[in-house]
Amino acid sequence: MSLVSIIKGSRLTCVVCGRVFPEGQGIVIRYKDKMLTFHSKSCAVKFFRYYIENVDPSCIDKYINKLIDDFQKYREIKSKKKILAE
Ligand SMILES: [Zn+2]
Repeated sequence: MSLVSIIKGSRLTCVVCGRVFPEGQGIVIRYKDKMLTFHSKSCAVKFFRYYIENVDPSCIDKYINKLIDDFQKYREIKSKKKILAE
């Protein structure tokens, strides 16, 4: 990290549109040695939609129902907490 970037704060580049944005904003997802940086939710959605359309379907088919189930459980837990808070 250069002295200039320490003083000014790190700048990240959106992997979808190339826009440069300050660290702490946007969406950053680390995967192994990769850093997926998106300046906005719309660029993140665009990336993951493209990912789903282009990855080998056998990889996606294996996990898509599990992910849907996980979010179903998440929604149930969230609604129970909401009821308890009321
Ligand atoms: Zn972007």
